[in-house]
Amino acid sequence: MNGQMMQQPLLISTLLIHAERHHAAQEIVSRRVEGDIHRYTFRDLAARARQAANALRALGAQPGARIATLAWNGYRHMELYYAVSGSGSVLHTLNPRLHADQLSYIMDHAEDDILFFDLTFLPLVEAVVDRVQCKTFVALTDRAHMPVTKLPNLLCYEELLAGQSDSFAWPALDENSASSLCYTSGTTGNPKGVLYSQRSTVLHTYAAALPDALNCSASDVILPVVPMFHVNAWGLPYVACMVGAKLVFPGPALDGKSLHSLFESEQVTLSAGVPTVWQGLLAYVETNGLSFSSMRRTIIGGAACPPAMMKTFQDLFQVHVLHAWGMTELSPVGTVCSFKPVHRTMDKSAQEAVQSKQGRVVFGVDMKIVDDSGRELPWDGKASGELLVRGPWIVSRYFKDEGGDPLVDGWFPTGDVATIDANGFMQITDRAKDVIKSGGEWIGSIDIENIAMAHPGVAMAACIAAYHPKWDERPLLLVVAKPGQSLTREALLAFFDGKIAKWWTPDDVVFVDAIPLGATGKMLKHKLREMFREHRLPTV
Ligand code: AMP
Repeated sequence: MNGQMMQQPLLISTLLIHAERHHAAQEIVSRRVEGDIHRYTFRDLAARARQAANALRALGAQPGARIATLAWNGYRHMELYYAVSGSGSVLHTLNPRLHADQLSYIMDHAEDDILFFDLTFLPLVEAVVDRVQCKTFVALTDRAHMPVTKLPNLLCYEELLAGQSDSFAWPALDENSASSLCYTSGTTGNPKGVLYSQRSTVLHTYAAALPDALNCSASDVILPVVPMFHVNAWGLPYVACMVGAKLVFPGPALDGKSLHSLFESEQVTLSAGVPTVWQGLLAYVETNGLSFSSMRRTIIGGAACPPAMMKTFQDLFQVHVLHAWGMTELSPVGTVCSFKPVHRTMDKSAQEAVQSKQGRVVFGVDMKIVDDSGRELPWDGKASGELLVRGPWIVSRYFKDEGGDPLVDGWFPTGDVATIDANGFMQITDRAKDVIKSGGEWIGSIDIENIAMAHPGVAMAACIAAYHPKWDERPLLLVVAKPGQSLTREALLAFFDGKIAKWWTPDDVVFVDAIPLGATGKMLKHKLREMFREHRLPTV
């Protein structure tokens, strides 16, 4: 016997319809590429998204066509999130930090038909225009700011919209139809596309908004620093419409000063980003003796959050850190480190130790860790193995079947190495390919980096495997010192005493000016391993 409830497909357009109907006056504030601050409401967003949907039809966008964006976090990008996916095309968010070679590969692999871009990225678009199939380019600006360019027939976004009606009937799509496409940062091989569906996106939005996940409500003012070109800004543009939260978009200004002034002027309560962006912000706030008057929570993920950063946020600024783990392949939220009652009675240092874990799954995701032969490992907080996940917003195959079937018995192998404790809290110890194998035993580089980052003179630290004649590999620590600090190798190594098993202590420390970061702000360890391939570790 079937249930007798209404059949309504889970569609991205319904999030916008809901936001307009129930939170019409809620604000969206954006720092624009043009330099000024723009503000409007969900009512305006909905009307302009409908105009943009009409404009897409006028440009000939077909159902399922890939429509690309190369844009910062801003209201025009948000309009495209809804106009493209809501009208049945596929929003392909491109990462502007990629090289022109990678970008043209991805655009042609995706078969993008139209590219909408922020003015900042004009040089990048000019660099790829002759190498891609895409023939329609739209600058996300008004006529007054249209650039002089060699791009043929460059269109102006505001003009496209101005010519269109703001009534548009969002189609009743199949909820399994594709809605958006995001390529993985992929440190090996070609980038691979993850093709989200209307259904997977809406289910992920429900889960991400939950109290023990990102914990978002209509009372929040959310500033996503995490870019809308990186896994849909962790779903926050959808979550904001679902819960009716105010949104604040930082545009291109991601330096500490610009972010802090926006946090204060808009009374932001919740933010989200990778650890590297918070470094600049914290340095600015600390150096200038400032504080956060409204921000109470920040979500840190995309790379392990160093406990020292967590302490600064929490102890100095009373901003609670939510450590989260996810992947492009997971839409991206997988786990969030929200306390269970058992943690509430712990002392502060025990709580901090729990917070350095990546946390527990949100409903919908299941996880397990396995050994080299695929046998499931116990949840004792000690055994570590590859992390596998499954759930309705997790990839089942890559776009155009790139790389073959990724699943193992219905589970997606993440390539991360982790432990899980008895409370179900997962902790990433490494990427499988970054793990250091010393005499056959694994050393997790994240632990070592976290300790180094706790040293007051260290701005950034990366630990990689270096060749060792006896042990095969031993840890080599690369350190960027804070300005004005005279750190020594010996002092830094002594800092590890008593904090870690003796044999995990790095064999050597090298001071560097910078650590190479990838397009999504993560340390490029494979690059570092290449750079230090010839490095000879001291023999005593
Ligand atoms: P991406 O698909 O670019 O978002 O990268 C996903 C990868 O980032 C994961 O497989 C992890 O290796 C890493 N990652 C994400 N969040 C965390 C975290 N909180 N701690 C450690 N690594 C993380």
